[in-house]
Amino acid sequence: MSLSFDLLVIGGGSGGLAAAQRAAEYGASVAVFEPNPLGGTCVNVGCVPKKVMWSTAALAHSLSAAADYGFNLDYRSHDWGAIKVRRDAYVASLNLNYAKSIEAKGVNHILENAIFIGSHTISAGGKTYQGRHIIIASGGQPERPAIPGAEHGITSDGFFELEKRPDKVAIVGSGYVAVELAGMFRGLGSEVCIFVRYDGVLRKFDDMLREELGNALAKDGISVVTEAILSKAGTDHGGLFLETSDGRVFNNFDCLLWAVGRSPNTRHLGLDKAGVDLDPRGFVLVDDFQNTGAEHIYAIGDVTGRANLTPVAIAAGRRLADRLFNNQPDRHLDYNNIATVVFSHPPIGTVGLTEAQARAEYGDIVKIYRSEFVPMYYAVMESKGRAAMKLVTAGEHEKVVGVHVIGDGADEMMQGFSVAISMGATKEDFDNTVAIHPTSAEELVTMR
Ligand code: FAD
Ligand code: NDP
Repeated sequence: MSLSFDLLVIGGGSGGLAAAQRAAEYGASVAVFEPNPLGGTCVNVGCVPKKVMWSTAALAHSLSAAADYGFNLDYRSHDWGAIKVRRDAYVASLNLNYAKSIEAKGVNHILENAIFIGSHTISAGGKTYQGRHIIIASGGQPERPAIPGAEHGITSDGFFELEKRPDKVAIVGSGYVAVELAGMFRGLGSEVCIFVRYDGVLRKFDDMLREELGNALAKDGISVVTEAILSKAGTDHGGLFLETSDGRVFNNFDCLLWAVGRSPNTRHLGLDKAGVDLDPRGFVLVDDFQNTGAEHIYAIGDVTGRANLTPVAIAAGRRLADRLFNNQPDRHLDYNNIATVVFSHPPIGTVGLTEAQARAEYGDIVKIYRSEFVPMYYAVMESKGRAAMKLVTAGEHEKVVGVHVIGDGADEMMQGFSVAISMGATKEDFDNTVAIHPTSAEELVTMR
């Protein structure tokens, strides 16, 4: 006998839980399949434990600044294991909060892997479940490159299992994970080397951010090996080594971390039984309303490969539930102007088009405003940090189509500016806004 629900959700991560809870609030009967701790990537091996480690490294930066501010601190070392214990406890408390929250809303949690056996039918743990609607929210997992010896490296998942700080780390990749984890290792004292395939990190970001972050990494002592196409990884007497296809060998690492992107969890879902189409990399193809090609089956979050960020998965899930169970037929997520932060040291906040994207889209009517400066925090310090900001405007009325910031506080700055951008603010609106002094953010409303 099979159990019937209004909504079945595959995956209890950011997107799945958001959709399930919103649907249950509207009175739908809902079951979520999730064999792992609730919260998915973000809570268990992503944003949450990552932010704890970022804050730990940020504190190390503050401690090294303390003497210039007149403090006499006798700070010698950091206990990686101690923060891991606290971090794990925090994550466990979030897992529990999710369990309580969905239980309170009447969402059924089925602690099993789900697999389609028909377009309305799922098999899990030897039982079958019928869903009037089914949402695929199965997320993704970190990739490893297809080279000999790849098994010697860990991924971001393994980073969160480390019990102690490695001394010398090789990080392969050039995206968010590579630069974020590099900053954390370095801030806490590891020697760090990043290997990238092209000319630098964060190739999809605005050039100003890439250049400034490149300088900041160098200043922090993080080396970036460019044009590094890896051919082999392994162990030798001096620890772990990497070999590039042009014959360069780098060795003596005690940690090798792959940060080369993520692949979707779609392989073991039986999607052929459901008639759901995938793109060549295995991501679920959806339209603007999260509809897959199969009626009554939808996909949200990382499994769709569009802006793989927690708030995106949550927003897509909630809007989908509004549409399906609260009679809001046009409700859907607009994927334009999604702000994002890279938790590097210093952090990056960015929203909208890069300068290159704006020039490609708008041509000559693009006007750029830029500012680079030493934030006041560093005025009394020997070692100077930097901030850089860029406004990308387009058209006669100079509509602001991109805001890019690197520097201390960029992470907290960007949310408010993203509201302005989604409302269609112009440079004149920025100019008419009275500054908050003395802050770094005031530069964004005083640029000429
Ligand atoms: P997930 O959270 O991955 O959830 C998918 C769930 O589906 C998993 O729990 C999995 O166990 C389950 N599942 C898979 N297959 C099945 C099956 N067959 N049956 C049942 N369940 C199944 N985003 C930000 O916005 N800010 C950040 O600072 C940030 N930092 C990050 C740091 C790291 C190191 C990483 C890796 C990611 C980070 N992200 C960040 C991205 C963010 O974590 C993801 O975008 C987000 O978790 C996606 O949510 P999701 O619901 O789509 O998938
Ligand atoms: P990303 O897609 O951001 O970056 C991975 C990069 O690694 C690629 O863009 C590519 O860059 C490079 N790469 C790919 N294959 C290889 C290879 N074989 N050898 C060397 N380099 C390679 O993936 P991440 O794993 O960093 O992060 C996954 C996603 O998770 C992010 O895209 C983001 O959406 C999310 N995330 C968000 C965070 C946040 O919000 N702060 C933090 C962490 C993750 P190139 O083409 O330049 O070589």
